[in-house]
Amino acid sequence: MSDPTTPVAWGIQLAKLWLATGQGFPVNVKALALEVTKQKFSEPVGIIKPHGIDGIDGMLSKRNKHKDWCISYDENVVVPGRINFTLAHELGHYLLHRTVRDTFQCGQKEMMDYDSLESRRIEAQANTFASYLLMPRNDFDTQIKGQEISFELFGHCAERYQTSLTATILKWLEFTEETAMLVVADHDEFICWSFCSQSAKRLGVYKAPGEVVPASALEYLKTNTSNTRSPRRALAGVWHPTEEAIECVIVSDQFEQLIFLIRFPLAFSPDHEDEPESDAFTVLSEKAQGLNWKK
Ligand SMILES: [Zn+2]
Repeated sequence: MSDPTTPVAWGIQLAKLWLATGQGFPVNVKALALEVTKQKFSEPVGIIKPHGIDGIDGMLSKRNKHKDWCISYDENVVVPGRINFTLAHELGHYLLHRTVRDTFQCGQKEMMDYDSLESRRIEAQANTFASYLLMPRNDFDTQIKGQEISFELFGHCAERYQTSLTATILKWLEFTEETAMLVVADHDEFICWSFCSQSAKRLGVYKAPGEVVPASALEYLKTNTSNTRSPRRALAGVWHPTEEAIECVIVSDQFEQLIFLIRFPLAFSPDHEDEPESDAFTVLSEKAQGLNWKK
């Protein structure tokens, strides 16, 4: 069988391979990368180690002397799940892009040259691969089937897959038929970025970076300071001119961010039209590089 050529196909194949070992979730990217590349390629990933460089989440580099490749990562990243995602991201570069370059440095935008379209494209592909490897669709479906959608539920999934909460919710938004949107804002109440499910896109609820968080949402946050804020009903006019919404929010003090999950349970969702595949991880690398989205 010939090797896959796309990020999605690689992600699906390696996830299957991992699960066939019977070890379950989370996918141990380290073990998988070392073993699979050793079996398949003449210049495998020979070593995976921490590199102690601040601001560079992950690196892939060729070691000419050893005739292999090294993946290294910032071991001081404290966000749960982020290191695992970074390792998967670097494995994605190895599988998809190693003939293009000898070194990949991945992390915050300020440090990196993501200006070119080509750079953004390969970053997005590595993220897509990582999401398919770590969060296989079938298993994700099983986890959420019949459950009330909530941050707790996604938190459970994030723990299962060892991914960040944001990356986990983005994965759900990519495939759900619900009308829902993730909105990340800073504490100054400006929206940093948002991502809509297909159905939410059709409803036109998208919030652009720089827009202001609705006043009533901020008011609710101020008057309900407990850590366990219940979801609230947001009337038509708050998140959409004519649609009511259910609004959940968590406050990330560590990163000074507000994370909103907005669902429109009553929104009429027209039949599926032929639209290009939504790809959260392309959107991310285009809109949110440097915004620490992996949190
Ligand atoms: Zn990268």
